[in-house]
Amino acid sequence: MPDKDLLILGIDLGGTKILTSVINPGGEMFSRDHTVTPAAKGPDGVIQAIVESAERALEGASIAIDRVSAVGVGAPGLADTEAGLLFTSPNLPGWKDVPLRDIIQKKLKKKAFLINDGNAAALGEYCFGAAKGVSHFIYVTISTGIGGGIVVDGKVLNGFKGMAGEIGHMVISDEGPLCHCGNRGCWEALASGTALAKAARKLIETGADTTILSLADGKIEDVTAQTVQSAAEKGDSIANQLILKVAYYFGVGVANLINIFNPEMIVIGGGLSNMGERLFKPAHEVVKERAFNRAYGTVRFVKAALGRNSGVLGAAAFAFDEMKRAGFKLGA
Ligand SMILES: [Zn+2]
Repeated sequence: MPDKDLLILGIDLGGTKILTSVINPGGEMFSRDHTVTPAAKGPDGVIQAIVESAERALEGASIAIDRVSAVGVGAPGLADTEAGLLFTSPNLPGWKDVPLRDIIQKKLKKKAFLINDGNAAALGEYCFGAAKGVSHFIYVTISTGIGGGIVVDGKVLNGFKGMAGEIGHMVISDEGPLCHCGNRGCWEALASGTALAKAARKLIETGADTTILSLADGKIEDVTAQTVQSAAEKGDSIANQLILKVAYYFGVGVANLINIFNPEMIVIGGGLSNMGERLFKPAHEVVKERAFNRAYGTVRFVKAALGRNSGVLGAAAFAFDEMKRAGFKLGA
C-alpha cells in the first residue's frame, strides 16, 4: 500500500484501450489496469468498463477509494474541460454531449476532472517525461490517428472551452482523403498509421506490384501500417514510397506547428514513431524546407519518454492542478 498522502486515480480512456492507475504527485504509479474499450457498446458500456477498471486499479494498489483525493479522466475527442462534457469522439461511436465527468464523479463518489487525451499526454510529458521544465513544446502522437497537445508558457493550451490542440485535424490538403471527423485532408487522414494502411490497400486494389498483401496472408483487410513497414524493411519499393508520402505529410504538419508556435521542443510518441529514421529522416527534410529557418534551427525533436503512460499520468496531473487551483485540501 502506498504510504503517500496524496493520491489520484488517473483514467486514460482511449478508443481501443482503457488504462487506469493510482498515482501520487511525483508521478509514481501504484497500480495499472489495462482493459479493452468496449466502444461498440456505446457510452453506457464504456462507462461501466471504466468503473470496473477503476475498481481493479484501486484493488491493485490495495487502497480504498476514500484514500484517493480526486479522479482525473483523459478522454479522446472534443471535450469541454470546464463543463466536464465529452461532446463527440471520432473513436467512440454513439457519444454525443456526454457529461462524462459528472457520471464518473457520481459512480465513483469522488471529485472528478475531464481533459482531452492529447492535452493530458502533453501534460504528462511536461510534468514527468521528456519535456520536464520545457515551457514551449508540442507533443505529437502518431499512431492510428494523430493527436497531441500544445504547451505555451508552461501551460497546456486548452483554448476557450478546452477544445484546443486538435492538431490531427488541421487541414493539410483541402482535397485530401476523407477524415473520420467528417472533414477532408486532415493531418491524420494523410499521415497516420490508418492513412498509411488505407493508401496501401488502395494501391493493392489497383494491382500494384508489392509484397504487402502476401505479408498480410493475402487478406487485404489485414493490411496495417506494420505490414507496410515490414514490406519496406524487406526492400519493397511500393511500401517505401507509401512511407515517404506519409513522411512528407507528417513533415508539412510539423512545419506548420513550428511556424505558428515556435516551440523549443517537439516531443513525438505513438506506435508509428517506432518506424524511426525510415519515417523521420524524410519528414525532417520537409520540415527543414518548409519551416522558418530561425524557428527550425532552434527546435529540438525528442522521443516521448512515458510511452502509453503519458495520458494516465497527465490526467492525474491535471486533477492535481485543478484541485490546487480550486483550493481543495489535498489528501483529505
Ligand atoms: Zn479530421
